[in-house]
Amino acid sequence: MKPIDYIKREDLYGAHNYHPLPVVLDHGEGVFVWDVEGKRYFDFLSAYSAVNQGHCHPKIIKAMTEQASKLTLTSRAFYNSTLGEYEEYITRFFGYDKVLPMNTGAEGDETALKLCRKWAYTKKGIPENQAKIVVCEGNFHGRTITIVSMSSDPDSYAGFGPFTPGFIKIPYNDIPALELALQDPTVAGFLVEPIQGEAGVFVPDDGYLSKAAKLCKDHNVLFIADEVQTGIGRTGKLLACDHENVRPDILILGKALSGGAYPVSAVLADDDIMLCIKPGEHGSTFGGNPMAAKIGIAALEVVKNEKLAENAEILGQFFREELRKIKSDRIELVRGKGLLNAIVIRPKGDSTAWDVCVAMKDNGLLAKPTHEHIIRFAPPLVITREQIEDAIEIIRKTLESM
Ligand code: PLP
Repeated sequence: MKPIDYIKREDLYGAHNYHPLPVVLDHGEGVFVWDVEGKRYFDFLSAYSAVNQGHCHPKIIKAMTEQASKLTLTSRAFYNSTLGEYEEYITRFFGYDKVLPMNTGAEGDETALKLCRKWAYTKKGIPENQAKIVVCEGNFHGRTITIVSMSSDPDSYAGFGPFTPGFIKIPYNDIPALELALQDPTVAGFLVEPIQGEAGVFVPDDGYLSKAAKLCKDHNVLFIADEVQTGIGRTGKLLACDHENVRPDILILGKALSGGAYPVSAVLADDDIMLCIKPGEHGSTFGGNPMAAKIGIAALEVVKNEKLAENAEILGQFFREELRKIKSDRIELVRGKGLLNAIVIRPKGDSTAWDVCVAMKDNGLLAKPTHEHIIRFAPPLVITREQIEDAIEIIRKTLESM
């Protein structure tokens, strides 16, 4: 089969809810993926930051395959021999009393919202059904009905109403707006991405997270960090909140919690919050399954042992410096933290960020536009300085030729 045959087959039998770049991938290792014709590419998307540990990391695959032939799923109707080991490992790793295991990032966010509302009624004393959660314009927390109810992006919400009530939307990176919203005594939580990834890698001002966390504390409101994309080393620290020494009351993780091997997400909180949810009130058939447990431990061990956050910090700075040296009128702006970066593309005629991504693909590097004119660059964190130099050369060559 030729690449076009694979593409046509997906188009024919699959829903058209994505618009992929025209490349058909077949296998991957570390920072590279290969297409069905054997051409090699740098992966500068890393499955939206799920593959921080690199494609098919041998330690993660070993943990996965060993567990796969032993026990894959018990459901939470019974105890199993791996879940407790994972729960102990991850809570110590991030410094929380408890974890609630789920599968996808969206489920992690939904779990955090439910947990926050439960806490509001059982601990804060907000009257039943009146709790509100403050969210930010430009957010991306996933695709469920409740989550798109929080969105300010018509692509996410339009045509999917009626929406879930109980959210107050304020501008991102706006402390006075948060302060005003917190005057409402029925506010229970503030849900925020430490860097808005899908929106186009919007990095808030230094001090935004710490000021927001303090305001929440002063108003007895839970500070909920969605670190599904920013967490697990991506921004140059284990968590993006660590840049400002902020410890969220509720922490949501996903994506790289499995190194891209399996859907694994988690919500972490201390007992005072987590124990508000009682048996039978929340769960998932697959959440906390033995495969996910073993993969989660292996994925976090790789991040720690291979110092991936440190690598992201050092090489992220180098990457941005090198990007800024590229002489092209197509680059309007370079921004990011660690190895979560983006360039804002200046349109030229009818050539857009999409065309730049197609040209980079032809030159051997994969990235995807977000919101028309922004290209996110998020390679696996196992990348080396030499590989960054090679990748920069591809980006430079592509942009200078356009
Ligand atoms: N939260 C953030 C910050 C995300 O970036 C994403 C996905 O991109 C999600 C949640 C949703 O994760 P999932 O696609 O695994 O449901």
